[in-house]
Amino acid sequence: MSKLYRLTFEDNNSVMTSNETISGEKLSSAQRVHYDWMYAENGSIHHSLCETCGSKKSFDYVNPDFKLKRGVYDLSITYDGYLIASQRFKDFCVRKDFSGIQFERIRHDVSFYILRINNVLHLNESKMTHRKTNFCSSCNEYSSIVKPGTLHFSENIDEVENSLFESNIHFGSSHEKHPLILATSDIVDEFAIEGFKGYYINEV
Ligand SMILES: [Zn+2]
Repeated sequence: MSKLYRLTFEDNNSVMTSNETISGEKLSSAQRVHYDWMYAENGSIHHSLCETCGSKKSFDYVNPDFKLKRGVYDLSITYDGYLIASQRFKDFCVRKDFSGIQFERIRHDVSFYILRINNVLHLNESKMTHRKTNFCSSCNEYSSIVKPGTLHFSENIDEVENSLFESNIHFGSSHEKHPLILATSDIVDEFAIEGFKGYYINEV
């Protein structure tokens, strides 16, 4: 039987989407319902975000000019919810051959990668107490989903293989929203032995 941990991460003082923001009267009243500022390009809300609530359409967008501002951690997260991993962390995962994990190069920083986790665990919403507010009719999703509380999964977590996982539900508000990151106890033990920096563990 493998226990499951939720991982949280140090912020790296960096943003993937854009360094430009808009706020105040440049936002419509419909947009301001969701967030009081939004990532932008050329004076309009950034094309990778929902045009009304500012939530990411997906994590597919990679800013070609992205630069990691704080490169001291093996694992860290951007303000807009992208996971960044060090070369040492990537080398470890490749050596261990963990399934469902990919590393995407960062053009301006060869020693760090965007960490992509393709393993998904589904939260059993009927048993959860999370709070959803501000439904957005443009993307058909709540722009704010917070306070996950005690996690309940649809899968039998005693039987998941040894790896990292994402929750199907993304938590946060607007552009902040990102999945919960989960790891089996065997992996968490190995991270500790390796002395990786930048993450915290919480038992699920
Ligand atoms: Zn939306």
